[in-house]
Amino acid sequence: MQRYGIDIWGENNFLIEGDKVCVNHLSRPALFDIVRDIREQGSKGPLLLRFPHLIEKQIDAVFGAFGKSFAELGYRGNFRAVFPLKVNQYPDFLMPLIAAGRKYGYGLEAGSKAELLIAMSYTEPGAPITVNGFKDKEMIELGFLSARMGHAITLTIEGINELESIIEVASEMGAPVPAIGIRIKLHSTGSGIWSKSGGINSKFGLTSTELLEAMELLRAHDLLDRFTMLHFHIGSQMTQIANLKKALREAGNIYADLLKMGAVGLQSINLGGGLGVEYTQNEAYPEVTYSLREYANDTTFTLSEIARAKGVKEPDIVIESGRFIAASHAVLVAPVFELFSEEYSIKALRLKAENPPLIEELHELYTHIRPENALEYLHDCIDHLNSLLTLFDLGYIDLIDRSNSEILTHLIIKKAIVLLKDKPVRELTQIQDKIQEKYLINFSIFQSLPDFWGLAQRFPVMPLSRLDTRPTRSASIWDITCDSDGEIDFDSKNPLFLHSVDLDEEDYFLGFFKVGAYQEVLGMKHNLFTRPTVATIAVTKEGYRIEELVRSDALIDILEDLNYNPLTIRNRLMENIRNSEHIPPEERGEVYQKVETFLHENGYLKTFN
Ligand SMILES: *Cc1c(COP(=O)(O)O)cnc(C)c1O
Repeated sequence: MQRYGIDIWGENNFLIEGDKVCVNHLSRPALFDIVRDIREQGSKGPLLLRFPHLIEKQIDAVFGAFGKSFAELGYRGNFRAVFPLKVNQYPDFLMPLIAAGRKYGYGLEAGSKAELLIAMSYTEPGAPITVNGFKDKEMIELGFLSARMGHAITLTIEGINELESIIEVASEMGAPVPAIGIRIKLHSTGSGIWSKSGGINSKFGLTSTELLEAMELLRAHDLLDRFTMLHFHIGSQMTQIANLKKALREAGNIYADLLKMGAVGLQSINLGGGLGVEYTQNEAYPEVTYSLREYANDTTFTLSEIARAKGVKEPDIVIESGRFIAASHAVLVAPVFELFSEEYSIKALRLKAENPPLIEELHELYTHIRPENALEYLHDCIDHLNSLLTLFDLGYIDLIDRSNSEILTHLIIKKAIVLLKDKPVRELTQIQDKIQEKYLINFSIFQSLPDFWGLAQRFPVMPLSRLDTRPTRSASIWDITCDSDGEIDFDSKNPLFLHSVDLDEEDYFLGFFKVGAYQEVLGMKHNLFTRPTVATIAVTKEGYRIEELVRSDALIDILEDLNYNPLTIRNRLMENIRNSEHIPPEERGEVYQKVETFLHENGYLKTFN
């Protein structure tokens, strides 16, 4: 059976039971049942399902892995971690994260004023706050206020001018002065599409010369003891550990040298984020080539080696990985709205008393295709289709013949795929590449998978049902925006096969997995499709509970968000109804009521069953 790579990307979070994909936790509910349940409550469009237990699982894994490495190596520093808010700021994500991190003192990282205010409101006492990104004087003042509120806050400076602002604010506001971190520019970088944040040309960080200058400034203003942390970030979605090891050696040596130069407060190295997430569905092309244990062991080992060699104390280790924590907790479920070649059934054939010879041949192929001749027939059928299309262009066959050729070709391919199930996939994939079924999916790629649109990042995708039957259609996915970029085309390296379904008879949903990091806030309102309905699901021993349901915005709210005045919109609609010669005066009220109803619904399509 087709497992859609669940054994590679699924990390035991989900499993296939019978014909359905289920949450691998306690009562193991099927995603399909959860979705049907929510749809029965009136949410017919795409759904984002959040599973808080999967946030907790990742947090436990990170603290567990470093705890183990520290114990095994007798490492004497502390381990701390913060969640970078830019990865997902939504409260229905953040509250479960904070609850799960409480026992570890898990903190938050902020990169803007808005994020800092979230961190100042929700960070638990004693848990760290780190602040990265460019800061003006006002943001630094906010940091000082946070320190005054009792937070363990570190302002990480991205340039000398920020240090100058901190010195200025310190002289105005006095103690307590927040801890100061310094982001260093390394010559090591990550690799892959997200690696721009590291390296000598990166947007952020101080060069070694600037670092020495910063030391002098700190010393001159009696703030050396506030400089506690060295920070670097080599980029998101690190695919190999080698780059991190290089960066750690560089940062570790800088740390040791600074200690020797009198950085009395310096105690930690912050490796930033970057822990990778396995998104691939094809084991031949893994994206991440190391494990969390390896990451923890290598980090701990490298830093302890440097500390020993240079005779300094082992630094505390701080990490800011976000993607790794957030990605797996959310699943986007979208209903299939239409299959474009569903009409290609035997019933749709309009064969004539006498047909062109090639069509007769196609019909023969269809009737006599067997496992032993399937590949040959498949080739013949595609040849015939090409010839028939040429004949049509030249005016030798008519539209009915052309339709018959399309139908027969599709039917032959469907049969062949079933018959050829034990043959090498490559051959089949090549053929399938030519004949894809387009699945129209009730969602927006721009809104829900922006990293696919912007960076061609693929997310694991599979149907939620039918998993006990062989999928026969090579699928490309179309969203409901009217933009041709709203398509996930068939990728022969990572082929997606879906089922032939009769949507009048059954629901068919696709699940896009690991969409919990970055996608929600990056999502854009192209064509004015907004956030889907979001449901938080607590899986229990007996079943599951829908903890929270945040419905997708109503159309009138979307328009108001764009700065339309809802009242003006209503007045104009009413006026147009009043002025229309097609609407008799006695029906105006009723027509307006109908329009008004629409204003309160969301913008996604309604699937009927
Ligand atoms: C974006 C970012 C992170 C988080 O990166 P992930 O790849 O999500 O782990 C951490 N630290 C800094 C400074 C960042 O800019």
